[in-house]
Formats: sequence, structure tokens, C-alpha cells
Amino acid sequence: MALDQSIMVAKKIQGMNESATIKMAQKARDLAAKGVKVISLTLGEPDFDTPQYIKDKATEGLALGHTKYTPVPGTMELRSAICSKLKSENGLIYEPSQIVVSNGAKQTIMNIFQSILDPGDEVVIYAPYWVSYYEQVKFCDALPVVIKAGIEQDFKATAAQLDDAISPRTRAVIFSSPCNPTGSVFTKEELQEIADIVKKHDNLIVISDEIYEYINFKGEHVSIAQLPGMQEVTAIVNGFSKGFAMTGWRLGYMAGPQWLASACTKVQGQVTSGANSFGQYAAAYAITADKSETKSMVTAFHKRRDLMISLFKEIPGIKVNNPDGAFYLFPDVSSYFGKSNGSNTIKNADDFSEMLLEEAHVGSVSGSAFGNDDCIRLSYAASEEDLKKAANQIKETLSKYK
Ligand code: PMP
Ligand code: GLU
Repeated sequence: MALDQSIMVAKKIQGMNESATIKMAQKARDLAAKGVKVISLTLGEPDFDTPQYIKDKATEGLALGHTKYTPVPGTMELRSAICSKLKSENGLIYEPSQIVVSNGAKQTIMNIFQSILDPGDEVVIYAPYWVSYYEQVKFCDALPVVIKAGIEQDFKATAAQLDDAISPRTRAVIFSSPCNPTGSVFTKEELQEIADIVKKHDNLIVISDEIYEYINFKGEHVSIAQLPGMQEVTAIVNGFSKGFAMTGWRLGYMAGPQWLASACTKVQGQVTSGANSFGQYAAAYAITADKSETKSMVTAFHKRRDLMISLFKEIPGIKVNNPDGAFYLFPDVSSYFGKSNGSNTIKNADDFSEMLLEEAHVGSVSGSAFGNDDCIRLSYAASEEDLKKAANQIKETLSKYK
């Protein structure tokens, strides 16, 4: 009896790209397992442990018997706590029935796409984009329509580009602000320009990925949902992975119009059901408790951001922007394309990223996975010592390329 994988594995999955962030993180781990001292700046994951007060709450939740299935969209306690947060921190009023808690914001985004996309529908994606947007849209048999901006535009596509990209089949526009992978943050004025275009169209929503909300070095976070007339056409995506260093807990959420929350709940009810119960118990506490630990993590990221900029500005041929949030540097390395060290020639960002791992022993992710072929992504959710070492190793390796 034979099983032909080209028949058994669905065409859709055969055509799907593996998550580049996860793939490069694994490559860095594999090299490290061979005994090489690798500095992995691949994964977008805080290097801090979850604050102790949140872990204690999860333990308390277990002791209290929060070990059962929860309602599909999340416990009432957590959804109410999310509503309190949205009201006090963002000035947005939502009912708990408009919140859907999922196994991470990644699932939140997939729930939304699955809820709104029919085959042939389009989603406008701001590039550089987070890797999974593109693949998830394809997974729904819909078409990603990418609008691009390079470092000279601080990686922010213009309103005119958005206007040109929207068609009658466009059902959503998606971006993250603060942005993964560039750290760019849309100003209130820029969000207003996006809103003005979106509001001209029927049957179109904004998916506003705000998972880096707290990791903003510039000032107040602004959600596009706060702008006049936008709340009813915006799906806010947020979660606990970044601001609370809870990546492994798998908790994200959507706040949006009732019809969308109901559709997402229907999808999730057939796929995974409610997210983990004692995690939700702890998250309900975390989201409304004092955020001083979050603030100290952000202070550390801010310091490292400044360090990264000064370190990478010193490397000849590398261009950096001034990321205002998140914890990534997205340097333009295109001046190295075509250069060789005698045995290896760098043709593109993929080669550059490979070369960094093989020769400088620094893990990064090629910009091509984020819709930008000139850059690489470096996560600075790592110790200052490692960041300094990484920059030195990169500088030395690049000095051999002529
Ligand atoms: N959106 C963005 C922009 C992200 O960077 C990430 C993870 N790095 C996610 C969504 C998903 O987060 P999670 O599934 O861990 O909640
Ligand atoms: N989202 C994080 C990143 O961008 C973690 C990996 C992933 O979920 O893709 O690196």
C-alpha cells in the first residue's frame, strides 16, 4: 500500500510557506546543538520570564479548580477585564460579547480571516508585514494585495498606495502598529488618512494588530478604532505574548463588531474551543493589575533599541531606521548584494541572513519573509551583552565582503 505525498498532502499545504521566523529560530537552535555558540536574534519573543505575580495567579487558578472547558470566546471574567482595559486605557467601549479570546493572536487573526473571506476576496497587507498575514490569507483561498514601503519611507506605505490597492473584492486592510518587523508606528494623522480611505468603501474592515501596544517608545498608543466612525469597522487584535512576556501561554484576543465576534466564535468553536482555563484566570488579573513590570521590560527594550541603532550605524553599508516600538531592527543590507568574500557571494537578503548564521553565528530572519527583499530582521529581545557581541561578529564578518 503506497501513500503518495504529492496526492496526500493538500495542494494548499504544499504551496504554503513555513513560518520563516519559526524556521530560522530552529536553524539557529540546530547549529547551536552542534556546539556552535550562536546568538539567535530570530524569534520575536521577550527574553524576560512571565512576571511572578501572573504565574502566581495561574497557580491559584489551578488550585481553585479552573481546569475545565471555558466558554468558546473566553471566560466572562477575562472578557470583562479586557473591556475594562479597552475603556480605561484606550477610551473604547465594548461589551464582553464583542471580545473573543483565542490561543494566541495568531489564531485571532486566522479566525478573522476565516470569518470574512470567500475564495477570490482580497486583503490589503501593509509591507513589511508580519509573516503569517500573507500565508493565512492564502490559506483562506483569498488574495493578498501587498502595498510596500522601504526604509526611506520609514517602512510606511502611503494613503495613496492604499487607495490604489482597494478593489470591490477587498474585505480587509491589515497592519501592525507598532510594526513587526520594522518597529514603525503610525501617527494619529497617518491612521486618520487610512481611516478616511477605508470609510469611503462598503464591506471593508481594518484589522489593527496592536500586539506591541505597550512596547512604544514614542508616546501614547493610538488605535485606529478610536478615530470617529472607525470602531464599527475595526477588528482590534491584541494579546498577552509581548507586553506581559507570556508567549508560551497562548492567549490573544479580538475586540470588534458583534457580527464578527459571533462569526469568530463559530469558527473557533469548531477548531479549538475556549483557550486554556487557568491561563485565562491569570490573564484576567494581569490585564487590569498594575503594569510596572511591563513598564520595566519596555524600559529595557528602549535602552536596547538605542544600543542597536548605535551599534549598527557603525557597520559600513548598513542602513537603519529609528524604530519607535516593538523589539526589532530591520536594517537595509542591500548594499552587500553582489559582494563576495572569495568563496561566498551574497545575492539577496536570504543569502545575507544565511551567511550571518553560518559565518557570524548570528541568527536573523530574511526580510523576504516579511515582503521586503532588501532587509533582514534582528530581534533585540536579548541581553545587551549578546547584542554587542552579535554586532561585533557581524561587523567583522562583513568586513571580508568586497
Ligand atoms: N501579530 C504580530 C505582529 C506578532 O508579532 C505576533 C507574534 N510575534 C502575533 C501577532 C502572534 O502572537 P501570539 O500568537 O503569540 O499571540
Ligand atoms: N511572532 C513572533 C515573530 O515574529 C514569533 C514567531 C511566530 O509566531 O511567527 O518572531
